[in-house]
Amino acid sequence: GFLWEFHFAASFLYYNYYCFFLIFLFLNCLCYIFFGDFMKVKVLDTTLRDGEQTPGVSLNTMEKIRIASKLDEIGLDYIEAGSAITSEGERESIKKITSQGFNAEILSFSRPLTVDIDYCLECDVDAVNLVVPTSDLHVFDKLKITKDELVGMSNSAVDYCKDHGLIVELSAEDASRSDLDFLRHVFSNAIDHGADRVCVCDTVGILTPYSSFELFNSLRDINAPLSCHCHNDFGLAVANTLAALKGGASEFHSTVNGIGERAGNTSFEECVVSIDRLLPEFSTYITINEIYDLSKLVARLTGVYIQPNKAIVGENAFAHESGIHSDG
Ligand code: MN
Repeated sequence: GFLWEFHFAASFLYYNYYCFFLIFLFLNCLCYIFFGDFMKVKVLDTTLRDGEQTPGVSLNTMEKIRIASKLDEIGLDYIEAGSAITSEGERESIKKITSQGFNAEILSFSRPLTVDIDYCLECDVDAVNLVVPTSDLHVFDKLKITKDELVGMSNSAVDYCKDHGLIVELSAEDASRSDLDFLRHVFSNAIDHGADRVCVCDTVGILTPYSSFELFNSLRDINAPLSCHCHNDFGLAVANTLAALKGGASEFHSTVNGIGERAGNTSFEECVVSIDRLLPEFSTYITINEIYDLSKLVARLTGVYIQPNKAIVGENAFAHESGIHSDG
């Protein structure tokens, strides 16, 4: 009598819990399917373009293919293979890279000029990193044109790319020193003309984690994936990139070992491992345990050696002379 009723009540209760648990699991799955992907951060590697602008670094075609293969293998979403306008040799390298059938999207750097875009098309790239300067200094003093002319130039370049089947990432050069309203104006025009992604470039490396967060947060309603391209003049490139993600960027540019002009670019390995270990709300498609090999390969081929105390990949990064602090 009583015992049986107790069992019945108890199993009913368990059954209810079981249902709740299943519903909980189901809702989790739904969340993962619908929102999970938004937390995946995409990475553009510019080791072969901005990285190759490191003084004294010059890679031959074979070396570039070896680096590009490794980048593709470890899961880079986008590889900027070079700048097609630069030289015949550069175009040969880009053509070889685009003919490998990599999973990654292959881009070439391009100014918003048909001559540049035609060379990109000749190299059969998937996409262009269309670099449009947006600061007053660049528009008035470098290009010596009006802001309206710049927007016209940018829009026609996007139109030309889209007419020829190219994916367009429009990068605003010197964006961190640009008037915010004008930057938004350039971006929204480009997106209306078909640009697939937009990127804010901290060309001279003057952002701080605070101003980076503010800038990206104020652009987060832009109607296209927002990327971030930082330089390391004050040693803040990685911090600024992470702040940009928190602010609303969903992609970032980096170079292996942080190589690049002056103090270099955002360091790929520091940024990816920080996301993996310190920012649970974000993740990347990168295979973390292959990063060390990639780092060594790039150091060897470029001749830019890694400082021993460099985070993540430095010789001393996991060495502890004193024997303390190393537990775990
Ligand atoms: Mn750059």
